[in-house]
Amino acid sequence: MTESDAPLLQVVHLETGYGDLRVVRDVSLTVRGGQITVLLGRNGAGKTTTLRAISGLNKTAGGEVRYLGDKLGDAPAYRRVARGMAYVQEGKRVFRELTIEQNLVLGGFSTRVSKKKLIAAAQEIYEIFPILGEKRALPAASMSGGQQQMLAIGQALMAKPQLLILDEPSQGLAPVIVGEVMERVHALKATGIGILLVEQAVQDSVAIADEVSVIEMGRTVLSGRAADITLEDIQDAYFGAGAAV
Ligand code: ATP
Repeated sequence: MTESDAPLLQVVHLETGYGDLRVVRDVSLTVRGGQITVLLGRNGAGKTTTLRAISGLNKTAGGEVRYLGDKLGDAPAYRRVARGMAYVQEGKRVFRELTIEQNLVLGGFSTRVSKKKLIAAAQEIYEIFPILGEKRALPAASMSGGQQQMLAIGQALMAKPQLLILDEPSQGLAPVIVGEVMERVHALKATGIGILLVEQAVQDSVAIADEVSVIEMGRTVLSGRAADITLEDIQDAYFGAGAAV
């Protein structure tokens, strides 16, 4: 297990984009084991693009992504997954017709263990998200949006990641459910994994963060320990210091 003082992930002056289009120009952030780093920024700031480069879905055009002490360079996504990165993309990507348990078993497929062992491993996910255990035999489509989001996270956890990357798990959820999802994400810290969380729900996500990073137009404009950063600092970073909000 990674010690919490040695960074699991270090993104240093990252540049990336789509073809010749440079969307991310200078993003730096750190994720430590057993901690949560929240990546914030307005729509179109480059958050998802940053996550895609970390996961190997977009090419790194400049700067570096270091994971478990190694520079990842242009390592393909599947190698990053094999080394313990799990990326839950925006939107609830679960198999709606399959049961909750079947979804979880599929999530553990990459670990190449037997179905029986995967069903046993799903018990650990039910401990983290009890609602998934209660509904294990029901189709995923029967669950609410927040529950499907928990299933998507549970599915990613079945691959036994060291780094969990979550892109806007609160998207489309009622405010009261957002707090519940954040609470569950917070509880995952106890497992020792590092979490990189992209969010629009600023207050809810900063409340569970150890580190905060704000990007604007593809550049990091604020980053540091959550304890040292106020909501006002974040607002200033979003809109420019002194702007009326
Ligand atoms: P949101 O909160 O809206 O998801 P974001 O911060 O995650 O925003 P990105 O999705 O990373 O932002 O998008 C950053 C910029 O890259 C935007 O200007 C967007 O239009 C552009 N972009 C995103 N996907 C592509 C693509 N496939 N091809 C070209 N440009 C893209």
